[in-house]
Amino acid sequence: MHIQENISLAPYTTFQIGGPARYFIAAASESEVLDALSFAREHQLSLFVLGGGSNLVVSDKGWPGLVLKIGIGGIEVGAGNGKRMFTVGAGEDWDAFVARAVKDNCAGVECLSGIPGTVGGTPVQNVGAYGQEVSETITSVRVVEIDSLTARELKNAECGFSYRTSIFNSSEKGRYIVTQVFYSLTPGGAPRIEYADLKRHFASNSNPTLSEVRDAVRRIRASKAMLISPDDPDSRSAGSFFKNPIVEMVEYDRIARLPACQESKPPQYPAADGQVKMSAAWLVERAGFAKGYSLGRVGISSKHSLAIINRGGATAAEIVALKNKVQQGVLQTFGVQLHPEPVFVGF
Ligand SMILES: Cc1cc2nc3c(=O)[nH]c(=O)nc-3n(C[C@H](O)[C@H](O)[C@H](O)COP(=O)(O)OP(=O)(O)OC[C@H]3O[C@@H](n4cnc5c(N)ncnc54)[C@H](O)[C@@H]3O)c2cc1C
Repeated sequence: MHIQENISLAPYTTFQIGGPARYFIAAASESEVLDALSFAREHQLSLFVLGGGSNLVVSDKGWPGLVLKIGIGGIEVGAGNGKRMFTVGAGEDWDAFVARAVKDNCAGVECLSGIPGTVGGTPVQNVGAYGQEVSETITSVRVVEIDSLTARELKNAECGFSYRTSIFNSSEKGRYIVTQVFYSLTPGGAPRIEYADLKRHFASNSNPTLSEVRDAVRRIRASKAMLISPDDPDSRSAGSFFKNPIVEMVEYDRIARLPACQESKPPQYPAADGQVKMSAAWLVERAGFAKGYSLGRVGISSKHSLAIINRGGATAAEIVALKNKVQQGVLQTFGVQLHPEPVFVGF
């Protein structure tokens, strides 16, 4: 086990922001995870589990305890019931796994192409995009329970998946470390073309391949700076900064009658239990935060109104200041409280 001290966390995040970790260990296997947990326990260190750092705002003070970076690799493939089963190490790069699945002509994750981060990060917020979510293909998740230092497998139904939620970021937050994820994909299956941008893209191609869909998703994402690129400062972000609010129909009707909604009604999409999902991007823009808005060294992406970006050399405090400003603006204009999607570390 290689224990490092006072390691800057900024290079481990897509925001490129964050102070140092007092201790830092990269674990390449489940037994290394257990060793690191024993070290943290012995020294009474608070623990933060790091994946690809693509959904984090790390404070300028950093993390006073142990940051455990999950680097468990490996992709194993099996078959059963006409499905292809992929057992994937939590530290594998998510998009590399999607590329592999698409190359193997297996459907189920093609719309999730280009999402940064690790495989282990995907069940945490039930990663989703373009009409697909990982909860549709995850059969189970192998975890280490931090308190008991034991490993177990949680079936899909035990993970409590819903929109950007699972037990891992809600009821059981801080209880488990994900070490492997099991996905069941469909060999030769048709790609999912549900999202408007994708439908438009394939208007003249009724039978696109998985590989064509993957390419299209990556192209669309790049046009919105939702694909990490060192050449695109608009992608120095944590992706969408706010979750789309899910509200009761009466609440939607109240919002739609507001003066700010007289020119055009807010977009609405069906959600569970008769509720409606609203577009956080629409609310943010109409509250006065247009694409390209800047506040010193932070701002809103010029390609996507939901992405807060580090325009260069920004601090976590500056990100938080803009987050607060946007939340206040949306609250004042629409009476809607926006909730951030990234995880705040060390605040
Ligand atoms: C440009 C961009 C675009 C994005 N687009 C999307 C999108 O379309 N859809 C979407 O859903 N998300 C999107 N995201 C957010 C992000 O990529 C995902 O949430 C991703 O799954 C986070 O994984 P990670 O490995 O980077 O996790 P991290 O950011 O390192 O961690 C996030 C949380 O997960 C926990 N965690 C990470 N790994 C483990 C593990 N092995 N065990 C236990 N807990 C763990 C951490 O403790 C933390 O609480 C985007 C981000 C960026 C920067």
